[in-house]
Amino acid sequence: MFRQEREATFVTLERTRVVGRKLFGAVRERQPYFLFHSGEKRDPFQVSFEPEPFRRLVRKQMKEPQELGRDGARTWWMFKDDFYVEDEGLDSTDIEALALEVHRRRNRRLSHARAMRDVSGTIPTTRERIPEDVKAEVWRRYEGRCANCGSRENIEWDHIIPLALGGSNTARNLQILCEQCNRTKGAAL
Ligand SMILES: [Zn+2]
Repeated sequence: MFRQEREATFVTLERTRVVGRKLFGAVRERQPYFLFHSGEKRDPFQVSFEPEPFRRLVRKQMKEPQELGRDGARTWWMFKDDFYVEDEGLDSTDIEALALEVHRRRNRRLSHARAMRDVSGTIPTTRERIPEDVKAEVWRRYEGRCANCGSRENIEWDHIIPLALGGSNTARNLQILCEQCNRTKGAAL
């Protein structure tokens, strides 16, 4: 099992600490600390992050998945501001690959939904060239990889809604597919 955990979050709490002494007693200071909450109906994890380790974790998870806590066989991870849970003993390389897959799939679904919405009211376009700025935007969106399988080989431009069915040359209606996925798509549409 591997899935994104959308309900997971950090809980910020404060505690009072003695940071020094004065003539009439201790000098106290309020300091924040952070707990990870898995999003399930239970207490937050017993992971306590001091402000500095917490900032370090938040920085590191942008580059590489970071383990947040375990509960039996389950492990919670954070990667690029999203939370994931798995019970297969995966390592950070696996988590990275699976998380990217989740995002690719979501991007693809979103593009498709938006394109479908745009179809109504679009005048069927004849085979106009795709504008260069649109191409650049779409290329960036998929980081030059096939929207379906992530391959960088034999990339082709693909209209999510074909021009013949009222699709247009907008960034929303375009994706890049490898030659093989493009052919499979033709059969599935
Ligand atoms: Zn592909």
